[in-house]
Amino acid sequence: MRYPKLRELREAITALIKGPYTSKFPYEPHEPAKRFRGKPVYSNEGCIACTACALVCPTRAIEFRDVVTKGKAMRKMILHLDECHYCGQCSALCTTRDDVPPGIKHTSEFDLAGFDRAIMVSTTDEKELAVCEICGDIITSKAHLNWIATKLGPLAFSNPTLFIASLKGLGFSEDVFQTAKDYVSRSDRIKIVCAKCRRKTTIEQF
Ligand code: SF4
Ligand code: SF4
Repeated sequence: MRYPKLRELREAITALIKGPYTSKFPYEPHEPAKRFRGKPVYSNEGCIACTACALVCPTRAIEFRDVVTKGKAMRKMILHLDECHYCGQCSALCTTRDDVPPGIKHTSEFDLAGFDRAIMVSTTDEKELAVCEICGDIITSKAHLNWIATKLGPLAFSNPTLFIASLKGLGFSEDVFQTAKDYVSRSDRIKIVCAKCRRKTTIEQF
């Protein structure tokens, strides 16, 4: 019992000399610590809409909204700040975390209380999706395919989906938006197709 009392006394004397640890916020501006995890924000340039952050978010604060209309499929990432508990999983495991800028990062903003939940969001612009040219299922975003192809370099040429996607990204190939084909043929191998249809074109049919 004696030691804790001495320790408390030492802390009280230190606090008297050095001043309190707490800041005087909101009466004075507060400067958060260097690695403080404040409001997470998306970078429209850095985010490739791969949805990895939504999958690892423990509170399901991140929503991805896919809208498929005739001729176009788009995805938007939406982070609901009122459901976020600032754990940092999304930024730590973001696919583009080592890029400049990364897809998502924490800022030092912390004074986020408000009355309108609708404005407590961080979003990206809509990103175009790649859909399977055979069955019409969503594969991932085009930016994600391009990112993988760039990372793989020449190795991307072993996967038709990746190299066609990168050619389209460079403007060398026309966009195709074709859905629900009843059959597959050998020529379907050189198309942007989902894993299920790739299997059909390469293993099951030949
Ligand atoms: S900081 Fe944690 S809770 Fe908040 S959005 Fe990221 S993963 Fe989800
Ligand atoms: S790039 Fe990062 S921020 Fe964007 S969807 Fe993927 S994991 Fe989330």
